Formats: sequence, structure tokens, C-alpha cells
Amino acid sequence: MMLGPKTVTRGATKGAAPRSMAARRVGGARRLSVRAAAGPAGSEKFDYVLVGGGTASCVLANKLSADGNKKVLVLEAGPTGDAMEVAVPAGITRLFAHPVMDWGMSSLTQKQLVAREIYLARGRMLGGSSGSNATLYHRGSAADYDAWGLEGWSSKDVLDWFVKAECYADGPKPYHGTGGSMNTEQPRYENVLHDEFFKAAAATGLPANPDFNDWSHPQDGFGEFQVSQKKGQRADTYRTYLKPAMARGNLKVVIGARATKVNIEKGSSGARTTGVEYAMQQFGDRFTAELAPGGEVLMCSGAVHTPHLLMLSGVGPAATLKEHGIDVVSDLSGVGQNLQDHPAAVLAARAKPEFEKLSVTSEVYDDKCNIKLGAVAQYLFQRRGPLATTGCDHGAFVRTSSSLSQPDLQMRFVPGCALDPDGVKSYIVFGELKKQGRAWPGGITLQLLAIRAKSKGSIGLKAADPFINPAININYFSDPADLATLVNAVKMARKIAAQEPLKKYLQEETFPGERASSDKDLEEYIRRTVHSGNALVGTAAMGASPAAGAVVSSADLKVFGVEGLRVVDASVLPRIPGGQTGAATVMVAERAAALLRGQATIAPSRQPVAV
Ligand code: FAD
Repeated sequence: MMLGPKTVTRGATKGAAPRSMAARRVGGARRLSVRAAAGPAGSEKFDYVLVGGGTASCVLANKLSADGNKKVLVLEAGPTGDAMEVAVPAGITRLFAHPVMDWGMSSLTQKQLVAREIYLARGRMLGGSSGSNATLYHRGSAADYDAWGLEGWSSKDVLDWFVKAECYADGPKPYHGTGGSMNTEQPRYENVLHDEFFKAAAATGLPANPDFNDWSHPQDGFGEFQVSQKKGQRADTYRTYLKPAMARGNLKVVIGARATKVNIEKGSSGARTTGVEYAMQQFGDRFTAELAPGGEVLMCSGAVHTPHLLMLSGVGPAATLKEHGIDVVSDLSGVGQNLQDHPAAVLAARAKPEFEKLSVTSEVYDDKCNIKLGAVAQYLFQRRGPLATTGCDHGAFVRTSSSLSQPDLQMRFVPGCALDPDGVKSYIVFGELKKQGRAWPGGITLQLLAIRAKSKGSIGLKAADPFINPAININYFSDPADLATLVNAVKMARKIAAQEPLKKYLQEETFPGERASSDKDLEEYIRRTVHSGNALVGTAAMGASPAAGAVVSSADLKVFGVEGLRVVDASVLPRIPGGQTGAATVMVAERAAALLRGQATIAPSRQPVAV
């Protein structure tokens, strides 16, 4: 389907060519025929082709198409982000492993995690993962950016851009903006257990933190997490950036278009992109979206698909590319390396029978697991109540050791009981309860994330076929400090759950369960149940030079060794910030757009920071 200027046409089925069996072998892989510019993107040439229509891409599409002289094309593999389960925050429960709006990716088997594959959620729609994420708005800390050690990317440099991008509902306020497109607000759902958690956390000595994005004080403490929502509705970048620009005649958005390769020509003066090859269906013909002279391809496919596509296009570690028969365009050892995430574990406890109904799940579902009409009405008329939350917008940032200079742990407090210790699987177990007509039991969950994890994994190739998922080695706990953080995290969560007033609501710990008492037991529990905190970054890291593993230059986000190719998405973050990664991705995209429009350079800030 193509979303053209002002019109919505059904180009996906119409535009997709009849299957051609004109297969040939290129780069060791069987390929179907490629048609020059005859697909749903049309035959015009573009100044910018954005590969992926996700979080960063929607920002770029808006800002770049504001210049009416530039033609911008967005190629997105998934559908629009208009579905109700995207718009309503509580719909997140239906988006995990969604057959269309999630990529359904998993890691390679992880020996150190008792031979498990780790499910890695990735949004597949306009808005990308901002359409399926938990909407938490965190920038991390100032020290996170200073630790990058990159000119132009210190905390002082990035803060202005965070503030410029934001539209905070309760502003103006120091460290928050009110003039940007990224809507943020305080959570609109309150549960009595939130306050009880805060009191219990205070009883363990944690301070209250009124604003985790205010860098004038440390990140430590408990409190409300701000959310990327607008009056209780998800404020993903499709809604906030792309939709308002959709009517522009110079912006074309094609959905259902899967990029398969960036076309790069090698000449005597070096390598230059000429366009992007894409498919409307796996076994259909490939089409080419062509660049206008001087045009650029902007990789916005996220931290898994961007390095994957780069490698398929000849940009990556030469040995890997050669092994798969791919011509090497730019030998960059850093492509796909440096994969980072927030590994997560849970502590959950069942409520005493008299408190069962306090949980958010009981507010949403009746005893037969049907959605309660009252919750729907409250959401429709007030944009409040249990449907206005993704469930985890209250919590704490904590140091698990006094030797640390900042928190290594985020606790997300959920006023509901996890049904499975591997976070996402709760919803699968819930499906079973529903079939049996049984209610979701009440209780609490603390999801514990190692937010400044040091372990590093990689994205590699299984095959040169773009429809074969890449080899993702998530490699949690390659640095033992991350496992230690989570072991200590479970102990701290237990300590909080044991404090009044929280304690009085709880009957028994279900996960890990009281029998897991020694450090060895807890390590075992964590290895068996650790799941992704959904913060994948770093796989096309920016930096000063490829010799140090950088893939793009931190001065302009250009891929080393290829003209007309930049990466603008979560892949470029060289080191994971200690907070969710959506805000940082938007910050990078805002800066990239200003750079491309000649409105700013990526240089050290000489201005005092506007807060
Ligand atoms: P994405 O937004 O993922 O966009 C990539 C886009 O490229 C997708 O639309 C994808 O379909 C498309 N694409 C990929 N390959 C191709 C191809 N070959 N052809 C065409 N299109 C392609 N961050 C927060 O700040 N707060 C949170 O609460 C939070 N929770 C999260 C919960 C989940 C379940 C997930 C998955 C992420 C969460 N994050 C959160 C992380 C945050 O959403 C991401 O860091 C951010 O959205 C990444 O943006 P991106 O532009 O790099 O990639």
C-alpha cells in the first residue's frame, strides 16, 4: 500500500509486479529480477530515501520534507501505526510477538542462559518501536553522554536537543521543553499500590525523585516515570511527526515495502549510493527507489536491521561479507558489533485474597478475563484509568552497590502479578487462563533492568538473503557485573516488598520464590528467566574513526567509506544510556535533520544550556 501525497492508494497489490522467475545469482544468493523505479515508489528520483519508517525516520521525514524543494521517500516494511492497540497504551500487551506489527525476532541460542533463545521485540509499522514500546520517557543521565567522549555529543550538547524536541504537558519547567513535537506527560493512571510502593521504597532509605529527567540532581530515587503520551494516548513518532507532514506533496510514504539492499556504485573516486532496492512481497520482483543527483540514503531501520542491511549491501566486516559471497564496498569491522541492551529479571508476589482486586489487571479484566466496560468508558471519556497505562510507569533508579557513581538498576513497579518470570510470556500464560475462564491473579511485580549493562553482543549474517533473519548474539552477562546487578536487584526488590505498608498486601513471592535464597540460586533463576529490556543500541556506532570500531562519523553520521549514506537511528548510540532509548533516538534524529537542512552542525555547544 502506498500513502501518497494527500491520497491513500492501494499500490501494494496493484504496484507489486507479477512474480518473475527471472532469478539470477548475485553475491552468492538467488535473486529475483530488479525493476528500476517502476514500483509503488514511482519513477521519480528522491533527495532522501529513508530506509524504515520507524522512530527516527518519522522525525526525519517531517523535518526534511519541510523543505518543499526536497523529495523525500519513506520505505517501511510494516503497516501504518493506526491500530487501536497502538494508540491505547494498554494495548502494548497485544503488540508483543504480534504477527504483523512486530518482527518476531529472537537471539541465537545462548549457552550461558541455559540454552535459551531470547525474544527481541521490534516494532514493525510507521512509528516503528515507538508504536509498540512502553512509552517511558527517560533520557538517562548527563554522565551517560559525557562518557561517550565524542565531540559535539556531551551532555551539554545533547540537552538542548532533548529540550527542543519535547512538548511537556506540565511545562514550562526546568529541563523540559514545550515547543517540540515529542509529547510527554506524567502518567494518568493511579493505583493505590503505587503509593504503597513509594512508602516501602522510602522505608529502605531511597529518596523521592520528582523528575528523573532533571539533570540538576542525581537520577537515584523512586517516583513517577514521565511517558511519551498525549492526554493518555500513545505519542509515537508516527502520530507526532509523520502524520502532520503526510499531506506534503514532496513526501511519499510506502508501507509494506521491505528494503533488501542499498545500491552502491564503486567508481574510481570511491563508493556512492544510487538508491535502495525493495520488495513488496518476499517472492515478488524487487524494485529500485532511485536517488536524485547528490541524494542520500538514510538508514533508519533500527539496531537490528540497519547493520543487517548494511552488510547485505557490502558495508561491514570484509571476512563476514566474503564468507557469504557479498562484494565488499567498505570494510568496516564495527558493523553489527557493540550490541547492547538492558537485560531484565522480575520479582513477583501474589496478593492476599482480600487484596486481589486492587491490581491493574483486575481493573482491566473481569473474572472471566473479559475487558471491563467501565475501564473502556473511563478511557473513552476521560483518557484515564487502567487503559491509559502500559503498566510500568512508576518505579525507581537505584545503585546496587555504594561503589557506583550512578544507578545501575531501574525498578519498574507493576501493580499486577507476572504470570511468568520471563516478562513477555505472562501474556501467553494469560491467554491460557482466558481459555479456561479463570481470572488473572492479583499481586505486584518489580521488573528489574540492568540499565547500564556492560555486556556486548553482535548482529551477524546467517545468509546473504535479506529475508533470513540476522544472527543475533545478545550475549547477556558476557560482563559478569550485569549478572551481579540483577542478583543484587532481586535482593533489593525483596527488601522493598518486605516493608510496610506494601508487605500487608502480599501473600507469597511467586518469582523467583522464597526457595531461591543464595546468590547461586538467584544467578540460576536469572539465567533461566532473563529477558530483554528492549533497548537495543550500538550496532552502527558513531565515533571519530573506523579504526576504533565506529561505523559512522560522529561529526555528520556519514558511513565511513561510502558517499551518500548515513545512519540515523538507535544503532549509532555508542554506549547505552541508563534509561529507555526512545528519547535519545529522537534527539539524534532531530540533530541529523537540522544538520541535513543546514540549520546546525554537530559541534560542541558554545551556548549556555537552556533549561
Ligand atoms: P525503530 O523505531 O524500531 O524503527 C525501525 C523501523 O524500520 C521499523 O518501523 C521497522 O519496521 C523498519 N524496518 C526494519 N527493517 C526494514 C526493512 N528491511 N525495510 C523497510 N523497513 C524496515 N524506549 C523508550 O524510550 N521508552 C520505552 O518505554 C521503551 N520501551 C520499549 C518497549 C519495547 C517492546 C520496544 C521494542 C522498545 C522499547 N523502547 C523504549 C526502545 C525504543 O522504542 C527504541 O530504542 C526506539 O524506538 C528505536 O528507534 P529506531 O528508529 O532506531 O528503530
